[in-house]
Amino acid sequence: MENKKHQYTLVIIKPDALVKSLTGNILTRLSEAKLRIIGAKVVKVSRELAEKHYAHLVDKPFFNDLYEYFSGKIYGPEYERILVFVYEGEDAIERVRKIAGATNPLEADPTTIRGAYGRINKKGIIENVIHCSDSEESAEREIKLWFKPDEIVKPIYKTKVVYKNNYPVLEWDD
Ligand code: GDP
Ligand code: MG
Repeated sequence: MENKKHQYTLVIIKPDALVKSLTGNILTRLSEAKLRIIGAKVVKVSRELAEKHYAHLVDKPFFNDLYEYFSGKIYGPEYERILVFVYEGEDAIERVRKIAGATNPLEADPTTIRGAYGRINKKGIIENVIHCSDSEESAEREIKLWFKPDEIVKPIYKTKVVYKNNYPVLEWDD
């Protein structure tokens, strides 16, 4: 129990969860982790954003299927969206990953979100309901990818002021 770390983590409620009306269930399950939401939004996922988010998978043979799933295209235009959250708190990354469960829903503990609600669909695509960051490094990269500094209630990483049309805009200072 020692060495508790104050962390941030990115959580995405994927399109299959929206198709199944699981948003409330998932947020309720995540509340067991005793963390705080400090950023939240709904996003239509472009190919470019998906490639940046899943940079480690872009070269895999299943990436196109993954994109069609993650963007919601396989469910139709009304489901082309995801919900994105930043959670903050003690051991945020591990606590959320534990509640989310293993990547493959067939292998995930049935009491986890993925074990309870995920499946492999008829095309063989993993529908696992939720994304959550797997390390502090990926959490920072992912949070900076999906959120602008002023979309989170406090400046959790270093920022800089950039002038656009003589107007000051806050950006992440990577
Ligand atoms: P995660 O961190 O537990 O989500 O797992 P990864 O980072 O390894 O993979 C990211 C996402 O890509 C997973 O959640 C799945 O949606 C998808 N994915 C991973 N491996 C496969 C695979 O072998 N086939 C397919 N179709 N999708 C996969
Ligand atoms: Mg991952």
